[in-house]
Amino acid sequence: MNTGEAAHVPSAVHHIPADKVCGRAKDVIRRLQKAGYEAYLVGGCVRDLLLGRTPKDFDIATSARPEEIRKLFNSCRLIGRRFRLAHIYYGRDYLEVATFRAPHDEGVDGGKVNDEGRIINDNVYGTLEEDVWRRDFTINALFYNPSNGELLDFVNGLEDLRHGKIRLIGEPEKRFREDPVRLLRAIRFAAKLGFEIEGHTRAPMASMAILLEAVSSARLFDEIIKLLHSGDGLATYRLLCEYGVLQHLLPLTAESLEEDTSGNFARMVELSLGNTDQRIAEGKSVMPAFLYAVLLWHKVQMAALALKVGGTPEIQALHLAATDALRDQVDFTAVPRRYSNITREIWALQSRFHHRDLRRASTLLGNARFRAAYDFLCLRAEAGEPVQDDANWWGDFQQATPEGRQELCKGAHNKKGSLRRRKRRKKSSNGDAAGGSSAE
Ligand code: ATP
Ligand code: MG
Repeated sequence: MNTGEAAHVPSAVHHIPADKVCGRAKDVIRRLQKAGYEAYLVGGCVRDLLLGRTPKDFDIATSARPEEIRKLFNSCRLIGRRFRLAHIYYGRDYLEVATFRAPHDEGVDGGKVNDEGRIINDNVYGTLEEDVWRRDFTINALFYNPSNGELLDFVNGLEDLRHGKIRLIGEPEKRFREDPVRLLRAIRFAAKLGFEIEGHTRAPMASMAILLEAVSSARLFDEIIKLLHSGDGLATYRLLCEYGVLQHLLPLTAESLEEDTSGNFARMVELSLGNTDQRIAEGKSVMPAFLYAVLLWHKVQMAALALKVGGTPEIQALHLAATDALRDQVDFTAVPRRYSNITREIWALQSRFHHRDLRRASTLLGNARFRAAYDFLCLRAEAGEPVQDDANWWGDFQQATPEGRQELCKGAHNKKGSLRRRKRRKKSSNGDAAGGSSAE
C-alpha cells in the first residue's frame, strides 16, 4: 500500500463524467476554494461515480473549520458532537461538508479513544493527507476536485475499486476496535457493490463482531436500517449470517433461526427482505416496524404459545410476548417507540384473522394497520405457516362487493366459533351439559 504520496489521476484516466456531479456541490467547492480553502468531493459519491452508479449524496471535505464554513454560507447549520459537521441547506435538502480530520492517535487531545480502543470523539482537525488515513476503506478514501477534474488517491483505492475489493485502511484489528460499526459497513458495501472483502480485512471479522455489543443501541438501529432497508437487504443479511455478525446484532433473530427446525422462520426472513428490496427498487415505501415484526416473530410466537398453553388468553399472551421480545431486542438495537407500537399492532392483529363474521371482519378491514398486518399474514403463509386459508379468505374479502362480503361471511365458518360448537356438542352428547343450542 502507498504510504503518503497521492497519485494524481487525471480525468482522462478515471473517467468520472463531470456532468454527473451535482451542480450545487460544485458551487460549494468552488466557493470554498475561492476563499482559500481546499475542498473536494469524497467518500461514497466518488466511489459511486467511478463505478458508473448514481451517488446517494455528495459529501464534501474541506480544510475550512466548521465555524469558517458557517461564515461563508448563510444557510449553513452546524450539527453533531462526536463528529461536528456543516450542513448547507437548499430548502429541505442539504449538502454535508466535513472538515479534514487527523487520525485520533495523532491529535493533541488524548481523550478521544477509550480503554478498549474505541473512538469516542472524532473532532481533531487535520490536513487532507491526514484525513485520508482516518477513513474506513480504500475505495471510500478517494478525493475528487471537480474544478480541475483531478482525482487524489493515497491508498490505491482506484485499484481496489477496479478489482472489486473492500480493504480497510491500516491495521484491520485496530481499525475495527476503534469503531466496530466498520464491520457492518464492510458487509454493507460488499453486498451493495457485489465486492469481495479482502482477506486481511475479513480475517478478524467473526471474532471481533462481539465488539458491536458495546456500540450505542441508537447507532445500531440506524445501521440496521441502512443494512436491511437500502435495496440490497437480502444479500446483506446473508453476509451478516456468513460472517457471524448477525448473532451480535440481532441475537433474537439468530437464536430463532437455530431453534426453528421447520425452516419457516428462515424462509419468512428471506422472503421479506427480498420483497423489501423489490419495493425499494420500485420506489415504494418500506416500514422499519414491519422489518422488526418479521425479525422477532418467531420469538413472539413461541413465547405466546407457551403462555397460551399455561392458560393465558390468546390476545393477552401475544401482548405479553411482544413486550418481552421488544424489551430484549432494545438491549441490542434501539427500536424507537413510533415503530415498536406499529410492530405490536401487526402482531396483535394476527390473532384476529380467524374471525369470519361480517361485523368483526369489517372492523378489522378498517383498522389503520390492516394492510401491514395482512401483508404479514401473507408472508407467513408463503413461508409455510398453516395460515394460507386465512390469507386467501382475506384476499377475497377485500376484493368483494358488499353483497359478496356478506356471502363470504355466511359461507365461512368462524374458526373459533366452530371449535367451541364442536366442544359443546361433544359435551352434550356425553350428557355432561344440558342441551347445546340447536340454533347454532
Ligand atoms: P453511502 O453510499 O452509503 O452513503 P458512503 O461511503 O458515502 O456510502 P457515509 O456513511 O456517507 O458512507 O460516509 C461518508 C464517508 O465517510 C465514507 O465514504 C468514509 O470515507 C467516511 N466514513 C464514514 N463512516 C466511517 C467510519 N465509521 N469510519 C471511518 N470512516 C468513515
Ligand atoms: Mg454517503
